[in-house]
Amino acid sequence: MTTPHPPFGRFFLPGPTEVRPEVLDAMRKPVIGHRGPAMRELLAGIDPDLRALFGTERPVYVSTSSATGLMEAAITGLCGRRVLALVCGAFGDRFRAIAERCGRPVDAIRVEPGQPSTPEALREALRARPGRWDLVTVVHSETSTGVLSPVADLAAVVREHDDLLLAVDGVTSVGGVEIRFDDWGADFLLTGSQKALALPPGLALGVASERALERAARVPAASFYFDLLAFERRAREHQTTNTPAVSLFYALERQLGRIRAEGLAGRFDRHRAMAKRCEAWVDGLRATLDSGFGILAREGYRSPTVTAVTLPPTLRAGDLVRALDERGFTIATGYGDLKQRCIRIGHMGDHTVAELEALLTETGEVMRTALLASSAAPRIGGS
Ligand SMILES: *Cc1c(COP(=O)(O)O)cnc(C)c1O
Repeated sequence: MTTPHPPFGRFFLPGPTEVRPEVLDAMRKPVIGHRGPAMRELLAGIDPDLRALFGTERPVYVSTSSATGLMEAAITGLCGRRVLALVCGAFGDRFRAIAERCGRPVDAIRVEPGQPSTPEALREALRARPGRWDLVTVVHSETSTGVLSPVADLAAVVREHDDLLLAVDGVTSVGGVEIRFDDWGADFLLTGSQKALALPPGLALGVASERALERAARVPAASFYFDLLAFERRAREHQTTNTPAVSLFYALERQLGRIRAEGLAGRFDRHRAMAKRCEAWVDGLRATLDSGFGILAREGYRSPTVTAVTLPPTLRAGDLVRALDERGFTIATGYGDLKQRCIRIGHMGDHTVAELEALLTETGEVMRTALLASSAAPRIGGS
């Protein structure tokens, strides 16, 4: 008995993303005891692929939780004093809110939607108040705006200071953008299974630096479930901290094999090509439909995995999303304050330019229809 899958290439949310049927099928294997040799073999087998994905020689943890769990692990494990949150959108603000909820004093450097977090602003803040913070948080690919912040440069600024750590939310970058955790000198970097890795939701993955672990050993009141030291210890033994979602690990194993077969460089090229195609499409909309179309993210800082398209004032994102849904395609509205002003297209995971092309054609038609209707409406009303 199998559940029929709709054709692949219709579901473009910026998370969760579409999962290949063969990856879903991997989850049909029998459940096994997680302290037995089969689980240890599985974890040892995926270990090299995980390290390659994160650009690290350190062990990568797999947590049975969504990505937010490991964001909480970063805050509770790495901040003993005060957090500086770099906020360029809703997910940067989530990191700030987690710090607040976990009882850590927190300051934020905010920028306008579409702008990246910059090393200049960070350097200036750290210079103005030396020693105030012991942890900086940043989102690599800000899913709410489609901005890719320059994490390597931000990490270099953090490294200018002693006793300061950098935690990176790589939820929509890992698997779609090259990650060089060791070379950058970041201290913690996390992702979730359901974004650019194109796995079902339910797993989070992360890696910590030696500096981070030293800090975690000194910070009191860390979480029990999200204990970085426990993750590190267990990962080195090819074990998990608690009962893992074994079925999802089967999917992870299958997907890492698929990623290896494609090659990381090829995978990153494919994501860049999809983002470029979106950009060109928006240029076309501007030229042929309405000059009000645009891309929210500043040029030079656009994420290869998600594009937020700003709409002319006559169009509402909710209407477009609904109209596309009727045609069998799924995209997202804007996020938070930008809900009606933008649509967001998640071109990440296993999508191809060809599949994206079909979506863009449909979306263009839906936009054209909505624009015609909006320009017709006042004439009808006024006559
Ligand atoms: C989706 C997302 C999250 C939250 O992930 P969960 O898996 O829902 O906890 C955090 N950060 C970014 C950038 C995201 O896109």
